[in-house]
Amino acid sequence: MSNATLVCRRAAGAAIRRLPVLAFAWLVGATTAPADCLVSADSSIRELQSLVSQDAPRALQEVQLQLEPLERAPLPDRHRLASLYAVQASAYNILELDGDAKAAAMKGLKLVPLAGDPVRLDLLTTYAENVYDAPGIESALNSIESARATQTPGSLGDTCLLITRGLLQNRQEKPDLAISSLTQAYHASTTPEFATARVLAAEVLSTVMRSAGDFTQALALNEEVIESYTQSGATLNLSVSRFLRGKIFNMMGQFGAAIEQFAAARKLSVQVNDVQGVAFADLLGCSAHVELGLLDRAASECNNALQMFTSSRSLDEVKETKALLARIDLTNGRADRALNTLNEVLDQRGADLLPARVLPLYQWRARANAVLHNYRDAYADLSEYARRYESANDAERARQAAALRARFEIDREIERNSALKHELDQSREHSERQARELRWNAIVTTLGVAVIALLIYFLVANRRYRHQLVKLASLDGLTGLPNRRRTAELATAALAHATLAQRPLTVAIIDMDHFKVINDRCGHAAGDFVLKEFARVGREALRETDILGRWGGEEFLLILPDATLEFALASVERMRTLVFGIRLPPSGAGLRVSISAGLATSQRHGRSLDEIVARADSALYVAKNEGRDLVRVAEEGYLATTAVRRAIRIS
Ligand code: GH3
Ligand code: MG
Ligand code: MG
Repeated sequence: MSNATLVCRRAAGAAIRRLPVLAFAWLVGATTAPADCLVSADSSIRELQSLVSQDAPRALQEVQLQLEPLERAPLPDRHRLASLYAVQASAYNILELDGDAKAAAMKGLKLVPLAGDPVRLDLLTTYAENVYDAPGIESALNSIESARATQTPGSLGDTCLLITRGLLQNRQEKPDLAISSLTQAYHASTTPEFATARVLAAEVLSTVMRSAGDFTQALALNEEVIESYTQSGATLNLSVSRFLRGKIFNMMGQFGAAIEQFAAARKLSVQVNDVQGVAFADLLGCSAHVELGLLDRAASECNNALQMFTSSRSLDEVKETKALLARIDLTNGRADRALNTLNEVLDQRGADLLPARVLPLYQWRARANAVLHNYRDAYADLSEYARRYESANDAERARQAAALRARFEIDREIERNSALKHELDQSREHSERQARELRWNAIVTTLGVAVIALLIYFLVANRRYRHQLVKLASLDGLTGLPNRRRTAELATAALAHATLAQRPLTVAIIDMDHFKVINDRCGHAAGDFVLKEFARVGREALRETDILGRWGGEEFLLILPDATLEFALASVERMRTLVFGIRLPPSGAGLRVSISAGLATSQRHGRSLDEIVARADSALYVAKNEGRDLVRVAEEGYLATTAVRRAIRIS
């Protein structure tokens, strides 16, 4: 068992000052594996540490042998020297030689100034364990803090230092701070590698909780320690935890339960031959039996304890046992003997005892004095009792308040953590919801854009298609000229406009001469070519505003808005001349492309388009009759003939 464990075992008992733990610590090594808190990396030092926990006096001799040559050497290995002082300090510590332990630790500390050095940490904790005066505790706490600054928070070194800090804070009567430090250490040591630190933290924390009056916590933590030691088969450690459990029950006023625990602790101590452990179990058993009024049993246990403490010269415990025996005497009517014993116990007016222990002694001595009719002394003792009671009570109240505050702090931290967690969960949920919405929005937007794009595409495509359709529907595929339907529309609109504007409009019907012959001689494709060429050259002879459309077959309709008959005649004559230039293939040798045309005008030949076209058609008929390649203007008398001709054409 290492120094660190012993330090912490001592810590557990230190809340009630040098109670049993250290007194029988020299036997600890026999039953437990070495602790890992601040164990040395050097195997020879580790062996010595082990020996300390098994046989501290022998370890001291061994260390002394190794120290002597090193101390004399001109240039000793300072680190090894410091390690040896650390072992020495821990051995003194176990043997309760506080002054020697501190001196050895101090020698070691001077040799290892490096703050984070594990040997320095070991020396620091051992030193701190042996400090009881207020300024000493203060400076030990400062050293612990400096050492902690070199350790990674949550590391084993840091955790061990926290346990020592908690112990010192409890010694300072600051249970709230102690609980805070120890709780930190406790929570930091949840992993298996920290198992020892966890048990130590729980053990010290249980003791602090008990003295702070939080028995529920104290019992729960103690239970954890007992479970751990039961599992590891650490008999002596288990004996100590049983003993401490009994103390908790004692303070709770559950003396029967306490006696059971002390009996169990005693049995375990006997098993490992721990005489001091047996003595403490007897002392506490005696105290519980007194409370229950079982005085014979109490007296026997107290006498046993007294014998053992006297032989081991444990003066504090001797006084404590004697005080209990005095109380038994007092109850049994042996006031004189009780008074003698109490005078002996209070020889230094309690300065050498814990204040809380001294308080009942004055009460009992007052009672003894009263029984013996020493009223003056009885009064003085009672006054002292009242004075001490008040301050003890004040201290107790302050302690309870501090403990409550500490608990409140811990609870609040848990609450705050859960509130934070809740907040965190909420914000996470919120951002997830937002992300979901964003994703959904993005999908909807993308879809929307796609749909709109598609619609636009369809719209545009449709418009283009419709446009094409319209175009297809209104244009002649071969010549590119307006087809008959479109030509009629345009002609109607132009006529309406001309009528409204009272402007002349002239219409011409143009027909290819002997086209059948061209087709027959040159082929249909050549015929098509001639039609296309006519459309092209025809447009050359016309104005922008003139409308030339395919009226059917090799027949064309020409509309000349705002044109007199004379102007129109000139235009068509130009066309007639131009078609001479349309060349035919060799197969058409001897043939010539020519046109015949008939003209009619709105001002002279009718109001409706049909009427005007009919007149033009009549004129065309004349042109054909007169030998072709001619342009003729309509005359009134031809209308009937035209009508007949039309009838023939349609049939
Ligand atoms: P006329 O001088 O009396 O007008 O004699 P024609 O041969 O021109 O008149 P007809 O009405 O007897 O014949 C017209 C011919 O035009 C018949 C037809 O095959 C031809 N034709 C009509 N449309 C097309 C066409 O789109 N392409 C070709 N190659 N020939 C066509
Ligand atoms: Mg014809
Ligand atoms: Mg013809």
